[in-house]
Amino acid sequence: MPPAPPSDRELDAYREQADRFIAELDEEFYLHYAGLKETFDLAPIYERHKNLTELDQVKSIGLAVNGGARVRELWRFACEGYFGELTRDHAEKLAELESELAVSVGGEEIPYRMVRPALANEPDREKRRVLDERANDLLDEHMNPLHLDAAERVQSGTRDLEFANYLELYRKALPSSALDDLAAQCRKFLDSTERLYEEWADKLFRTRVGVSLSEAERWDVPRLFRAPEWDPMFPADKMVPALEGTLIDLGIDLSSQENVTLDLEERPNKSPRAFCAPIEVPDRVVLVIQPIGGPDDWRALFHEGGHTEHFAHTSRDLSMEEKRLGDNAVTEGWAMLLQHLTDEPAWLTRRLDFPRPNEYAVEGATGLLYFVRRYAAKILYELEFHAAEDVTTMRGRYADREPRGGLAAARALGRGPEDARRGDAEGGHRLHPRDGGRGRKGPGGSSLSL
Ligand SMILES: [Zn+2]
Repeated sequence: MPPAPPSDRELDAYREQADRFIAELDEEFYLHYAGLKETFDLAPIYERHKNLTELDQVKSIGLAVNGGARVRELWRFACEGYFGELTRDHAEKLAELESELAVSVGGEEIPYRMVRPALANEPDREKRRVLDERANDLLDEHMNPLHLDAAERVQSGTRDLEFANYLELYRKALPSSALDDLAAQCRKFLDSTERLYEEWADKLFRTRVGVSLSEAERWDVPRLFRAPEWDPMFPADKMVPALEGTLIDLGIDLSSQENVTLDLEERPNKSPRAFCAPIEVPDRVVLVIQPIGGPDDWRALFHEGGHTEHFAHTSRDLSMEEKRLGDNAVTEGWAMLLQHLTDEPAWLTRRLDFPRPNEYAVEGATGLLYFVRRYAAKILYELEFHAAEDVTTMRGRYADREPRGGLAAARALGRGPEDARRGDAEGGHRLHPRDGGRGRKGPGGSSLSL
């Protein structure tokens, strides 16, 4: 029997269950990554709520999408959960491979997930080239067949939902012209910043890596942003006081916020990187920190502090879709706002004993420009990727997607098919620490903000 649209009561029940599902996932993420619980038991949670993402359920909610944002968000959640289920084995297998594989260079074994930090810490350019090449060989041999199979599963799942392709599905899952408007903005941004980028990225590559922008290769990029000389300016013991002081200046007293838990305790298995778990919005938001210091750690803390305050200040009266789903740009906007204080000369001078804040700010702005251009090129690429009949024809397309973006697309940000295949593998970048790996809203991941 073809599914019928849900009644209002059924939609309310779905909403309520989805809310519990996300809360349970966030709680589990929190307990595991805060080092409070050794095992990471997602499977029982998915099992308990698997009715949320079954094909007929997803189709049924699709019939209720009526032009309003709320049901549309609920349906997007259902679709993303459905795709998450279709590719859960792939994701688990990929995670397993990534944690088991190691790259062997000059008699040394480097765990696959440590390749990027190793590239950042390696001053010898030739060694970086070899390391990058070996890591790509592993990716090609072990992970790419799984990535390809997962992409094909999603394609056939899209057809089961009666859409021509994933792009067409997203045209219904988002406000009607959102993707086309965004694509136009991306093109315009790449165009209007090209000369600015070429000038400043060239300077930064010369200073940090000793090569011009036109000579730079993908394996030079992690090194470009490493800049160890700034590490001592960002001490571990000043991180939390700087966040507290900054929030006080904004009228927020972190220590007296009853709905915010600051998890500062040291534990052996605690994630070294700050994260925010909005378990109940706005009533129970946890900010987890284990300060290690250095610019990247400061950025991560302020980014997560932004998410924390956004969720903690969200109105209790909003609907579940508005509190937990919806446009990520809202919460990311708050996160970025606080994160980029750490590149701001007046703030650096006020919070830290900081020599040459303007020089640091220029590096920060160049890095931000690099990442925004990279994301703009990536969106344009993905719009084509998700409409392609045969995704293997997209190899190589990433590099020439935006010939004028050149550097945006090809040069500094990795060129050629390697980067396209690599997808988001180079996590841990400054724009959005670790988002790539975990997925965000929807049963495919959790709403954990990273
Ligand atoms: Zn974020």
